[in-house]
Amino acid sequence: MDSVENAWNKYDESQVEKIMEYNEGYKNYISVCKTERECVRETIRQAEEKGYRDLKKVIEAKESLKAGDKVYYNNMDKALALFVVGEQPLEKGMKILGAHIDSPRIDLKQNPLYEDTEQVLLDTHYYGGIKKYQWVALPLALHGVVVKKDGTKVEIVIGEEEGDPVVGISDLLVHLSREQMEKKASKVIEGEDLNILIGSIPLKDEKKDAVKANIKKLLKEKYGIEEEDFISAEIEAVPAGKARDFGIDKSMVMGYGHDDRVCAYTSYTAMFEIENPDRTCVCLLVDKEEIGSTGATGMESKFFENAVAELMDRLGDYSELKLRRALQNSQMLSSDVSAAFDPNYPSVNEKKNAAYFGKGITFNKFTGSRGKSGSNDANPEYIARLRAAMEKHNVSFQTAELGKVDVGGGGTIAKFMASYNMEVIDCGVPVLNMHAPWEIASKIDIYETMLGYIAFLKEL
Ligand code: MN
Ligand code: MN
Repeated sequence: MDSVENAWNKYDESQVEKIMEYNEGYKNYISVCKTERECVRETIRQAEEKGYRDLKKVIEAKESLKAGDKVYYNNMDKALALFVVGEQPLEKGMKILGAHIDSPRIDLKQNPLYEDTEQVLLDTHYYGGIKKYQWVALPLALHGVVVKKDGTKVEIVIGEEEGDPVVGISDLLVHLSREQMEKKASKVIEGEDLNILIGSIPLKDEKKDAVKANIKKLLKEKYGIEEEDFISAEIEAVPAGKARDFGIDKSMVMGYGHDDRVCAYTSYTAMFEIENPDRTCVCLLVDKEEIGSTGATGMESKFFENAVAELMDRLGDYSELKLRRALQNSQMLSSDVSAAFDPNYPSVNEKKNAAYFGKGITFNKFTGSRGKSGSNDANPEYIARLRAAMEKHNVSFQTAELGKVDVGGGGTIAKFMASYNMEVIDCGVPVLNMHAPWEIASKIDIYETMLGYIAFLKEL
């Protein structure tokens, strides 16, 4: 779409430097945070530096809160809500930025460890929508927690430090692949074959499964865990290594988990710019979007509603009716990545309604598939207010839908929040290679998205 100018053109050299610097922060965030737990922990660390306090501790201490206060609500270390309390009563509604912090990956099964022909492997069940053939023959890292019977939690990160070993899933050599190459892409690598190779040295004097015995010994020595502790573990195999500049001009970022940590980072850093707002501002980072927003830590959960109730109680202003009004009178940007137009695959998009690199934050009036099915279809009255806010703050924005009609589709957290009868629209950052181990986003779009969130928090 030519009517939206390329956002890089708005900036002079020193401003471009600022944009690059902002993206250094982002690259670091997604390099360090590769699981929902790591995202929650790092976001809390940064929020505390900015003066946010733990709402649960405020509740415990029976402290009261007032306008201007900043608090966070941690849900099971996998979802998080940040609040800056506004001047106006909560029942006037909130301004909510929401994004998800889970990303497609390969999870270990509960009983993962086995030896086959003197190799030790881990059995897995992938998480979210992946093209399985993209996840073989590349270095993977293991991130997660093992919780022992006595409740002690062992944090595991293997494959990220210089000198750390990596693990991974093998693929068949091309020389013997005649049959494999005839298969459909969905069958080339099957889910049950995503087995992660982790070792091959046998334990001396061990007769049966000697390599596995050696790995068990290592796990015991290094982490103090037994094989049966995998039963109460959550370990995720993710691409190993840091996010990097992409393109000779360094205009893009290649990293794991842009979907949707790019919207999480831009959301919470925008929140950090807000002091003493008129109405309460919220940044909501949730889990489980990639598998349908289910579970206690997904958007379907009541945790956000409960957190708002607790907040109102601390403000001395809770009633069931006021809580309902607070939710209903809210506006939300449900942020998730968009499919960036890819010149290699132009046929899946309709050019006037596609998202492009360099054109800024993308608004999706609707998502869904087959006749908008499953979509939150934002109201034009609301979109008009957003247009005005973006223009006032000189934010580059574009509008798009996910591909051509009937080509595919997808859902987001929007519909769950819309069920409170609040105004919600999908928006976010365009991404190439979405759901691949290494995704690509444009630095200027990341920056404009953060500016767009600030405009939303200030103007709505
Ligand atoms: Mn997403
Ligand atoms: Mn996704």
